[in-house]
Amino acid sequence: MQETNHSVANALQKINNDIERFCQRYQRDPSEVTLLAVSKTKPAEMVTDAIAAGQYAFGENYIDDALTKIEAIQDPACEWHFIGAIQSNKTKHIAAHFQWAHCIDRIKIARRLSEQRAATLPPLNICLQINIDNDPNKAGIRVEEADALAKEVAQLPNITLRGLMCIPAVTDDHQQQRRSFTRMKSLLNQLQITYPSMDTLSMGMSGDLEAAIAEGATIVRIGTAIFGKR
Ligand SMILES: *Cc1c(COP(=O)(O)O)cnc(C)c1O
Repeated sequence: MQETNHSVANALQKINNDIERFCQRYQRDPSEVTLLAVSKTKPAEMVTDAIAAGQYAFGENYIDDALTKIEAIQDPACEWHFIGAIQSNKTKHIAAHFQWAHCIDRIKIARRLSEQRAATLPPLNICLQINIDNDPNKAGIRVEEADALAKEVAQLPNITLRGLMCIPAVTDDHQQQRRSFTRMKSLLNQLQITYPSMDTLSMGMSGDLEAAIAEGATIVRIGTAIFGKR
C-alpha cells in the first residue's frame, strides 16, 4: 500500500524526535547524528515527499532502482548514499552518482571507485563494512582485518575514508545490541589515531536506533519506519 505525503512527513518527524530524545538520554549532540532515509524499492514520489519535509540524505541498495530515482529527482541538494553490496560492474555508476558508499569490504572495489571517480567531483566518502558479530552469512571484514584495509583505502586519491558501518545480528535485546555497537566504537577510536579522516559510525536501523545512538552512531539508516514496509 502506498503511503500518503502526510505519513512520510509524520514518520520523519517522529524519527527525528526519537533521535533527539535518545541523544538527550545519552548526552549526545543531535547535530552529530545524521538521519539517512533508506528509500530502496520505494518510488521517487515518496523521496520527493521526504524532500518536501526537509530530508535530504537518502540510502539506496540497488543500483538500477537508485539511478531511476536520482535521475527523476535531479536535486543537487540531495545526498545519495549507496548502502548495498557493490559488484565490480556497478562501481562506475556509484562513482558517478553517489556521495557515499557504506559497504566497502574489498580493496578491489575501493580501487575501482577511486579510479572511476571524476577528478571534478569531491572525493567519494567511504565506510568499511565490519562483520561485527562474525556472522558467516554476512558481508564485511572482521575487526582484526580493519587496519590492513584502512591502510590501503586511505592511500587512494579520489575517495575519503570516513569510517565504519555494520549490520549487526538481529535481536530485540538492547544490551546485546549495545555490545555489538560498542565494539564498533572501540574499533573506530583505535583507527582514528592513524586515520584522522575517520569520523563516521554508520549503524542503527529501525529496530536498534536507541542502542546505536547510545554507542556513538553518527549516521543512522532508517527505512521501514519512514517509508513503510517493503
Ligand atoms: C534496508 C537497509 C536499512 C534500513 O532498514 P529498515 O529496517 O527498513 O530501517 C539500513 N541499512 C541497510 C544496509 C539496509 O540494507
